[in-house]
Amino acid sequence: MELVTGRLEILKEEDKKDLDIARISVDENGENKRKLYIESYGCQMNFADSEIVASILRENGFATTSKIEEAELILLNTCAIRENAEQKVRNRLQHLVPMKKKQNNVKIGVLGCMAERLKTKFLEEEKIVDMVVGPDAYRDLPNLINEVEDGHKAVNVFLSREETYADITPIRLDSNGVTAFISIMRGCDNMCSFCVVPFTRGRERSRDPFSIVKEARELFEQGYREVTLLGQNVDSYKWKGTDENQTENTTTFANLLEMVALVHPDLRVRFSTSHPKDITDEVLYTMKNYGNICKYIHLPAQSGSSRILELMNRTYDREWYMGKIDRIREILGVECGISQDMITGFCTETEEDHLETLSLMDYVKYDYGYMFAYSERPNTPAAKKLVDDIPAEVKNRRLTEVINKQQQHSLERNQMAIGKVHRVLVEGFSKRSAEHLCGRNDQNKMIVFPKENFKKGDYVNVLVTECTAATLIGKAVEDVLA
Ligand code: SAM
Ligand code: SF4
Repeated sequence: MELVTGRLEILKEEDKKDLDIARISVDENGENKRKLYIESYGCQMNFADSEIVASILRENGFATTSKIEEAELILLNTCAIRENAEQKVRNRLQHLVPMKKKQNNVKIGVLGCMAERLKTKFLEEEKIVDMVVGPDAYRDLPNLINEVEDGHKAVNVFLSREETYADITPIRLDSNGVTAFISIMRGCDNMCSFCVVPFTRGRERSRDPFSIVKEARELFEQGYREVTLLGQNVDSYKWKGTDENQTENTTTFANLLEMVALVHPDLRVRFSTSHPKDITDEVLYTMKNYGNICKYIHLPAQSGSSRILELMNRTYDREWYMGKIDRIREILGVECGISQDMITGFCTETEEDHLETLSLMDYVKYDYGYMFAYSERPNTPAAKKLVDDIPAEVKNRRLTEVINKQQQHSLERNQMAIGKVHRVLVEGFSKRSAEHLCGRNDQNKMIVFPKENFKKGDYVNVLVTECTAATLIGKAVEDVLA
């Protein structure tokens, strides 16, 4: 992708593929250990889960590798959110058939949401799979591997109401050593009618706050400078229990944010995802009060039409969502970064509904967005009660319009950053040049600048001089100007 300034940057096919690529495990030092290769698809929660899996299996004599051909255990951590995510995994399994034929001792396991959705059916449909393991059953992996080695197929898709893997220290896979994800909760109790997550990840449960703060502190001590607190709906985080003084209390998400922010002023704190119905003023004021809590909120709208939002069971309407945006701008200012998820072509969506989505985008002017054509998922409330009646070409045309609108807004929002100094946390070299570093500002925007004597993990004040819709470009300066 060529860096072009001053006009819209449209992603080429190969760049889009890059954005949607599977993450693979890294080479761990492990002579005489059994080799484990993990490939992870889908969301950040899945990548974080693969780090828990690697940790569990390290205790059982495995070391991770990035070379699939040297692995004796191959795990695919899967996503079921859209049909094409599942198709990608099935294609990948087909690619593994010749390898499995050559080396019969290689064992293949499927983990995550697709495993949970299909259960034993997976073993019937994909003969090369030896093991199917749902997201709450990873502690059972050592037993399941034994079963497979004894010549049986193994399945555990039990969903728990308690499992949070709080005591397991993840092994950071594919890490830049500067930014890390911390899972703070699992599952989801919302029933958005289009979504498979409540069925594949089970009931919502929050992890105890002390183990979260401990993990953040340890990461900081190891040199990490940014943590992102992860959950399907972080704002409904709630933990009831006794604190260090044995006093009964409840920790809300705002309390947790503050606890993590207090680990160190140089540890940046981010979070994702916020459900518009749950994000509170208390959270917004906590963000305002701590300089190290980043001023960026991922606030998926899904649609701009109140009629469609009701069919989606999102429990808010267009006006309510706009009110939430106003409140964010009031408390955190117009510069606070806001991003969206949108679905085009949901059941019964008319041209008027679609125009309402575009006009909501005009109202908010999001900094960034993740946009999808509706994909019906079996057994979801929408699949049971509504008809997937919008033709694929209409869904895709509306998707293109939504993406184009977002590109335009991303560019406008990035242009607002020109002429200002931004505090950037350096994540590494720029993809295109070893003479340039890249990192993010508070609002999660990627900034590229000449490296001089700076290095990964430094905070650098960068004056932004130009931009594309995707990237800000600048140079390091001594003082913060704004
Ligand atoms: N929990 C988050 C929320 O409530 O916004 C995100 C969950 S999901 C992993 C990420 C995004 O995938 C959703 O926000 C939605 O836009 C999209 N998505 C979920 N189900 C979908 C479906 N059936 N078809 C198309 N997109 C879908
Ligand atoms: Fe799915 Fe809705 Fe839960 Fe997000 S909040 S995971 S979209 S059910």
